[in-house]
Amino acid sequence: MKTHPAFDIVIVGGGLAGGLAAVALARAGFRCAVVDATDPAAMREAAFDGRTTAISYASARVFKRLGLWDVVAGEAEPICDILVTDGRAKSRFDQGAVSSFALHFDSAELEDGTPLGWIVENRFLRNAIMDAIEREENIDLFAPAKRAGASFGDGAADITLADGGVLKGALIIAADGRFSSLRAEAAIKTNEWRYKQTGIVVTVAHERPHEGVAQEFFLPSGPFAILPMTENRASLVWTEREDAAPAYLALDDDAFRREIENRFGSYLGPLSLAGPRWSYPLAFTLAQSFIAPRLALIGDAAHAIHPIAGQGYNLGVKDIAALVDVLTEARGLGLDIGAMTVLQNYQRWRRFDSATLALGTDLLNRLFSNDFPPLRFARDIGMGAVGKIAPLRKFFMRHAGADLGSLPSLMAREI
Ligand SMILES: Cc1cc2nc3c(=O)[nH]c(=O)nc-3n(C[C@H](O)[C@H](O)[C@H](O)COP(=O)(O)OP(=O)(O)OC[C@H]3O[C@@H](n4cnc5c(N)ncnc54)[C@H](O)[C@@H]3O)c2cc1C
Repeated sequence: MKTHPAFDIVIVGGGLAGGLAAVALARAGFRCAVVDATDPAAMREAAFDGRTTAISYASARVFKRLGLWDVVAGEAEPICDILVTDGRAKSRFDQGAVSSFALHFDSAELEDGTPLGWIVENRFLRNAIMDAIEREENIDLFAPAKRAGASFGDGAADITLADGGVLKGALIIAADGRFSSLRAEAAIKTNEWRYKQTGIVVTVAHERPHEGVAQEFFLPSGPFAILPMTENRASLVWTEREDAAPAYLALDDDAFRREIENRFGSYLGPLSLAGPRWSYPLAFTLAQSFIAPRLALIGDAAHAIHPIAGQGYNLGVKDIAALVDVLTEARGLGLDIGAMTVLQNYQRWRRFDSATLALGTDLLNRLFSNDFPPLRFARDIGMGAVGKIAPLRKFFMRHAGADLGSLPSLMAREI
């Protein structure tokens, strides 16, 4: 058995959440170990993850303050407008008209005129984070290395690796994703359900420029999002009934493209597939506690939500920024960073906020993923009201930008 030197924090999971947490905490002066079961070289491959992420402007501030945004910025497409339509209606690019049941969020309405967010391919986020981890002296990366066990003692906790190595830390962070085994071993219960929907993700190239407009069509099988990418490309997140999705995924390229065009319309001109198809079973998981003695949950290990509003990772970024503040303050006061009294401050900050957003996205999906006439009527009235009231529109834009509530220092607005 090999025991490594002790760390302040051992982070299990080096995905987008765990990796960013390591960089943020290391910059705050904590000695961190990151454990991930996947080979880092494989994680860097384009074939590892074909998704894009809508990075909110509050999350972008975190990347900026950690010096990661310069690397990502060249690959990030600003979202200038968001058009949300009940059903597939004409967009402003088709003969100028939009459905009366459409919502238009325009970044020009925000005082500072910042984009509503940025669409970035996950591989660029991952590579920027991996590069920073490799450069950072305060981080030791153990990958590929599977966590095999954990024990939580009075003064420290141990993570045992599959090769028998032991990593000791004052605090363990579970960033091991939606199916977190660390969460289960700490006996933290979850509220969870499947959506019986599959998220089909594919990149398309199109002839006309998208002008930074993100579109979301609410179709009976679920939302269909068209997210603007660099170089006249768009990332599609097509939510389909789980029993219908396999047949669409099995279509040949031409038939698959026609199915996309049926939903997408022609406002961006002819389309072509610009990458492989990906599919993700969609589910809701919310941990009933984000903490246990010497353990804090972040990212999808704490909350995995429907991608309808593109907020899952943004919630994780806020977890990380909040944890940096809580742990830095505790250290300044000479407190044990793994003590429950310290971790309760993190839980108070993050659990209610995450639960509210997670349940909000759940409700949105239920409300819009069907064709039941009374619901359709109610939601169209709601959309009409939001569309006409400027302060309400601004509220939703600030919400999408994750810029509401009490913001941790890494997310605070520039003064
Ligand atoms: C279709 C789709 C679209 C999305 N779009 C958006 C969006 O636009 N905006 C947004 O904010 N969010 C979006 N999300 C959500 C976002 O992708 C996730 O919230 C995010 O990827 C979660 O990252 P994570 O690091 O918490 O978890 P994961 O990516 O699951 O990482 C967990 C890591 O832990 C490691 N691990 C697990 N178990 C062990 C073990 N025993 N030992 C060692 N390592 C282990 C794994 O190898 C993995 O690297 C979307 C999600 C989907 C499905």
